[in-house]
Amino acid sequence: KGERLRLPPWLKTEIPIGKNYNKLKNTLRNLNLHTVCEEAKCPNIGECWGGGEYNTATATIMLMGDTCTRGCRFCSVKTARLPPPLDPKEPYNTAKAIAAWGLDYVVLTSVDRDDIADGGAEHIAKTVANLKERNPLILVECLTPDFRGDLAAVEKIALSGLDVYAHNVETVRELQRHVRDPRANIDQSLSVLRHAKKVKPTVLTKTSIMLGLGETDQQILNTMAELRESGVDCLTLGQYMQPTKRHLKVEEYVTPENFARWETVGKDMGFVYTASGPLVRSSYKAGEFFLKNLLE
Ligand code: SF4
Ligand code: SF4
Repeated sequence: KGERLRLPPWLKTEIPIGKNYNKLKNTLRNLNLHTVCEEAKCPNIGECWGGGEYNTATATIMLMGDTCTRGCRFCSVKTARLPPPLDPKEPYNTAKAIAAWGLDYVVLTSVDRDDIADGGAEHIAKTVANLKERNPLILVECLTPDFRGDLAAVEKIALSGLDVYAHNVETVRELQRHVRDPRANIDQSLSVLRHAKKVKPTVLTKTSIMLGLGETDQQILNTMAELRESGVDCLTLGQYMQPTKRHLKVEEYVTPENFARWETVGKDMGFVYTASGPLVRSSYKAGEFFLKNLLE
């Protein structure tokens, strides 16, 4: 403790750029879309936007503004008790822009809006419905808040026409209080994932865990087992990176070999797919993974 860990070489490598990348980059400008990929300067942008083996371009769009009502200790999104009201035209305008952009797979994510009665569930569901109406072929994943455990809100989204319901547990059970906002916890998150699957069994459920926050191997294993017991289909594991000095410190840079080991563990446990690597984020090449598993 005390000293900051040095960045290991595997986090400094250049990442390949797929063939769709320039096309998407050039058509984005006049669409007024806010991608997490660009705003968070995500290192995977060349791969995600470029598509890969299956030529499936993925991007992540943030809905409901840039200000969150929560303050997780790993996250650099700004916080306020009362963020500006929702833009009622957003579900329509965003759907229109995404449909025009030429993506194959979109991840719709959002800040948490504990200030709104349904947490914004209706707003998100409307965006999905508008988008699917314009472009029935686009694959849609929603990465949602926990809605404070409000299962009616979860249901609204699960039945909106989306393909993948994602909600992140973020870390192992033992570190929840240390890492996430106090209003979040793993049992509430598992109930969200279970409910989405229950009301719409054909939807894939998905979650993500960050490694490097001080968790033990046994804790990772136990949390993965709990996720499987809750019927979670897909899992991603990636390295936690400290966004600013005010955020939680990285306790460990997990080696690529160890990430690969967790991927094998995930496969053996029966997840539909497990994506695990230092730079993997919950939306990392989501379209590629989805299609690969659909086709194989
Ligand atoms: Fe960041 Fe999400 Fe936590 Fe809000 S709820 S602080 S957006 S991780
Ligand atoms: Fe965008 Fe997510 Fe891919 Fe990063 S990992 S480029 S945020 S889709």
